[in-house]
Amino acid sequence: MEEIVRELKELSAPKNNYREQSLRIHGLICAKCAREFEPKDRHLLTVHHKDGNHNNNPQDGSNWENLCVYCHDEEHTKETLGDYFSNGR
Ligand SMILES: [Zn+2]
Ligand SMILES: [Zn+2]
Repeated sequence: MEEIVRELKELSAPKNNYREQSLRIHGLICAKCAREFEPKDRHLLTVHHKDGNHNNNPQDGSNWENLCVYCHDEEHTKETLGDYFSNGR
């Protein structure tokens, strides 16, 4: 019985649901260009990990930033990895 409950819990809370959590915490808005999105366009918003570590997913959302796909792309292409870590973003 206990095992079944545990399994159900794991199914309803997959480890990689941080995207939905981040959208819920930070809202459907790009943190960079401040563009707002309709729920139907939520797929255009992605979750950026501020420290670059995709395994660092604190439940309070402190390592997440909602970025639209364009800003997210820019965020990763224009900066060198050194800048990325040294400027604390
Ligand atoms: Zn944006
Ligand atoms: Zn990112």
